[in-house]
Amino acid sequence: MNIILLGPPGAGKGTQAARLVERYGMRQLSTGDMLRAAVKAETPTGLRVKAIMEAGELVSDDVVSTLISEELVALPQTVGIIFDGYPRTAAQARQLDEILARHHRKLDRVVELEVDEDALVERITGRFTCAHCGAGYHDKFKLPKNALHEDEPLRCDHCGSTDFKRRPDDNEETVRTRMAEYRAKTAPILPLYEERGIVVRVDGMADIDIVTQQIERVLGL
Ligand code: ADP
Ligand code: ADP
Ligand code: ZN
Repeated sequence: MNIILLGPPGAGKGTQAARLVERYGMRQLSTGDMLRAAVKAETPTGLRVKAIMEAGELVSDDVVSTLISEELVALPQTVGIIFDGYPRTAAQARQLDEILARHHRKLDRVVELEVDEDALVERITGRFTCAHCGAGYHDKFKLPKNALHEDEPLRCDHCGSTDFKRRPDDNEETVRTRMAEYRAKTAPILPLYEERGIVVRVDGMADIDIVTQQIERVLGL
């Protein structure tokens, strides 16, 4: 099964993708993660996109579609894909169709996470991740379990690391730009998938576990 997780920044795409990977052995392809890795490694692409990402604007369609295309080459046909944060424009949606056709894959479902925009700023400004394994957390909604012991340093539930980080673009001002980009360029690709009858919707405002259950239900897992 190949699916797209669609929703504005902070909707919970990364959180839910990680669960599908863990439970069903699917593969998460996040263009945001790939671009951040390129920035960190200071590759030519990374150097080109750094300022754009920090401003919360979209990087060019060809750059992200090339990243996706390269990942697909090495992926066994039997492994299902979760596209997380891609496609984000009509041009990317067309490029994805071509890439999938080349690899004899089809798009089974587009899962839209429906969220209330006011909540997103709080979600994003409270977001942090484990610097060692990448597990996602939140200051208010998903602290590591040992946060109950106030005198201990926070420790990652998955790997035990005490090292955490926050994204430079997870600030209120940039979030507003990212939401505007979503509204103007990404939301308009939904009708294309509606026409194909593959869009399913879940309530992204529910608790994390409930959202997972809803996704499993709409995907028939
Ligand atoms: P996205 O990948 O769509 O940008 P994330 O999965 O990174 O979003 O989630 C953004 C932040 O909100 C994270 O800190 C995450 O822990 C938290 N979060 C995710 N889903 C929920 C939810 N259903 N309720 C409350 N907080 C959530
Ligand atoms: P979020 O989890 O908040 O939705 P991402 O990690 O997906 O954000 O993306 C972070 C930034 O990387 C975006 O603001 C944008 O600059 C860039 N980016 C990621 N994916 C794409 C894409 N498919 N097209 C264009 N830019 C992208
Ligand atoms: Zn960790």
